[in-house]
Amino acid sequence: MIRFLKDFISLFYPEVCITCGEGLAEKEESICTSCFYKLPKTDYHNFPNNTLYKTFYGRAEIQAAAAFCYYAKGSMVQELVHEVKYNGKKELGTCFGKWYGMELKGVSPFSELDFIIPVPLHPKKLKRRGYNQSACFAQGLSQVMKVPVLENGIKRQKDTETQTNKSRFARWENVKDVFEAGNIEQLQDKNILIVDDIITTGATMEACIHALNAAGVKSVSVASIGYVTDELV
Ligand SMILES: [Zn+2]
Repeated sequence: MIRFLKDFISLFYPEVCITCGEGLAEKEESICTSCFYKLPKTDYHNFPNNTLYKTFYGRAEIQAAAAFCYYAKGSMVQELVHEVKYNGKKELGTCFGKWYGMELKGVSPFSELDFIIPVPLHPKKLKRRGYNQSACFAQGLSQVMKVPVLENGIKRQKDTETQTNKSRFARWENVKDVFEAGNIEQLQDKNILIVDDIITTGATMEACIHALNAAGVKSVSVASIGYVTDELV
């Protein structure tokens, strides 16, 4: 019945690719296959010593770092992430998680995770937006990787100014005391993946990693939808 209704509705409101506007085939979600193959994937999960991992040298103790795509201004990835954050397209955020989950699930150490924890939004921002885009990404990863999401594994302590147009040091000063671990008993000796929509300087991640390591986890890895780097494809 639901299938029938869906088909019926799609006669009048066909689902289209967010990027190119072409109609979607039955198995396609959010974007079409041809746009999907145009995504500038980093493949970082297959290269443990990748650029993103190296940005944490001397800053925070992590096991692995990966990002689904490179993220550049004016790119298709920027448009898509914008849709997730500001246009209510939660399901696209979840799709990003499912797509990347397919790639991560068989690759160590991502195959040995106990929990996925999204970087939390400030409560005021969460109230305004109605959802946390990083939590949508986490849900998609969770569905495919069969690893539970621990929503309150990291808590935000105070409001921060916007990170845009700040140097790496200024960003770090801005966030270093912002995060603390929540659900500490559950975190003990666990392998954790922290996820965010975009990683730029890594300052937010760095603060989250410190918070979890201080709480007694076994290992922390990080993953995002996009990574802002000069090293572009
Ligand atoms: Zn398309």
